[in-house]
Amino acid sequence: MSAVVDECVFCRIIGGQIPAEFVLKEAEFVAFPDINPKARVHLLVMPTAHIRSLNDIDSQDAGFGQRMLSFVARAAAVSGVSESGYRVISNNGPDGGQEVDHLHLHVLGGTLLGDLV
Ligand code: AMP
Ligand code: ZN
Repeated sequence: MSAVVDECVFCRIIGGQIPAEFVLKEAEFVAFPDINPKARVHLLVMPTAHIRSLNDIDSQDAGFGQRMLSFVARAAAVSGVSESGYRVISNNGPDGGQEVDHLHLHVLGGTLLGDLV
């Protein structure tokens, strides 16, 4: 599934129906701040295509993951946390705490993050 999904909040942000301040916006991926930030810098990075979760990543071509992580690094650079550091988290499914069923990576930084893993 990769079409824009009307009821998906992230598809609506990507489509411009819900406003967001894009840190980085390209044809394949976007990055914008999380509305409920858990760190000074808290971005959401996601594909513009509606892909539900990492479970569906094989619906994409082999370079998709590399391009998405490359985009994360560039979004981190634009946000000024490349050198100070950042953490990337992906919540998948109910036990992972995924609230929005549109694949996204949380990029947290700008502050010393506590140990998690
Ligand atoms: P997850 O639990 O990994 O699915 O994360 C979903 C994230 O989306 C949460 O951290 C929310 O704060 C964030 N979120 C939900 N709606 C919006 C919105 N309109 N703009 C920015 N972030 C949002
Ligand atoms: Zn979506």
